[in-house]
Amino acid sequence: METVTRFAPSPNGPLHLGHAFSAIVAHDIARARGGRFLVRIEDIDGARSRAEFAEGALADLAWLGLDWDGEAIRQSDRIASHAEALDRLKGMGLVYPCTCTRAQIAAAAVATGPDGPVYPGTCRHAAIDPAVPAAWRLDMAQAMARTGPLTWTDELAGEQQARPDLFGDVVLARKDAPGSYHLAVTVDDARDGITLVTRGADLFASTHVHRLLQALLGLPVPRWHHHALLVEADGEKLAKRRGSPALSDRRAAGQDGLALAADIRAGRFPEDLSLSGLEISTKNP
Ligand code: GLU
Ligand code: ZN
Repeated sequence: METVTRFAPSPNGPLHLGHAFSAIVAHDIARARGGRFLVRIEDIDGARSRAEFAEGALADLAWLGLDWDGEAIRQSDRIASHAEALDRLKGMGLVYPCTCTRAQIAAAAVATGPDGPVYPGTCRHAAIDPAVPAAWRLDMAQAMARTGPLTWTDELAGEQQARPDLFGDVVLARKDAPGSYHLAVTVDDARDGITLVTRGADLFASTHVHRLLQALLGLPVPRWHHHALLVEADGEKLAKRRGSPALSDRRAAGQDGLALAADIRAGRFPEDLSLSGLEISTKNP
């Protein structure tokens, strides 16, 4: 089967070296296997997405010498299919509306999952007025009972037992958007024919949820490649606020993008950065 990978940045800030590494991994795997490399701009967070960051990301990729197949995909063009997937889960009785605020959840949560406080289930059996704007949550226990145990395979870490239960009743649609990250990325990766989901190890645990959603929605199951993360000398995840220049700043300063990409491929990272392995995110509770 042809290998199809993707790089899927959220345009809510400029790309930095960690994104460059991630895009190079996805691109180079596809090219090495004679497959396709897609770019999907994940711009469904209306409050935080900005067109200039989307344009900047594409310019950064071109500057690094990365070519993608076809037009860059805009996740915002896919909102109807996210809503349709949510409707199917509603029809299966596996999601319920939730009107809790973040503060209420934090105050009532008794456990912490990979995404933060685990939802305590307050609204699971509540009668919510349909006129009140609500998020939609997956009834995790019911959903897992429906699919039974699931496994998934990471190329680097091997076969994994799916543990979506670690997340509790995840949000699949927010008050202001029909698809949360988990729902949108799962539906879109299937629609785009992605056979190898390439992304940073910080999203390793999310795959437990995505695997469950695939099973519920009858979507094809890809393989995953969660790559190591670029970290600063103290082991902290790279972040712009810690002073590493954005790719766009390097580009504007006339730095050679092809040379930077060559350095990254050779494992020569600027500014004392280094790669840190999967243990970052696989150390689940
Ligand atoms: N859009 C997500 C991000 O920028 C990544 C999605 C993914 O690769 O699954 O963090
Ligand atoms: Zn609630």
